[in-house]
Amino acid sequence: MNRLSLSEKQESIDVLNYQIRACNNCGLHATRLHALTGEGNVDSPVLFVALSPGEKENAENKMFIGPSGQVFNKLLHAAGIQRESVFMTNLVKCMLPKNRKPKMDEIDACSPFLEEEISIISPEIIVPLGAYATNAILAKFNMHSASDGMNFSSLNGKILASNNKKIYPLPHPAALLYNPGFELNTIEKYKRLKTFL
Ligand code: SF4
Repeated sequence: MNRLSLSEKQESIDVLNYQIRACNNCGLHATRLHALTGEGNVDSPVLFVALSPGEKENAENKMFIGPSGQVFNKLLHAAGIQRESVFMTNLVKCMLPKNRKPKMDEIDACSPFLEEEISIISPEIIVPLGAYATNAILAKFNMHSASDGMNFSSLNGKILASNNKKIYPLPHPAALLYNPGFELNTIEKYKRLKTFL
């Protein structure tokens, strides 16, 4: 298993981020302002994986600062988790124009970056946010084929185990913008992450 020191992790992430910023491996490079790199504690046991940068994140080159980010911050705060204590990244590093769904070839082109982030950070638990990130992470750990149908609601809030990795699918914060009634329930799910920190 990959066991890098903190400084080795930071160096490896810096090299990877350089590659992400220069990437034009799929058509999304043409419409982005920034290819957004992950942020947070590279030594964290908790890795959040969202879908892609929104407009504000694309404009300002920062993770989770738009409306979804406000919800994410609120959930972390309510659960007593410091944002600086976790690592956050996206499945697709460049903005999806008009919030459209990602295409399979875009996910395939960008996934090697996420795989490298997982390898470097080596978290105890991966928290994919929403169906697309969950589908990709489960496929990576051979928990189902990426082409299988997946019922996200049946996985939401369940801790799944694969070898030495735990996977904890949670709703994307954007979903709570449209369904604020799920907030309390989601806060309880975030609280479970404190045991890993
Ligand atoms: S979405 Fe990923 S693969 Fe596509 S251009 Fe951006 S960084 Fe490269």
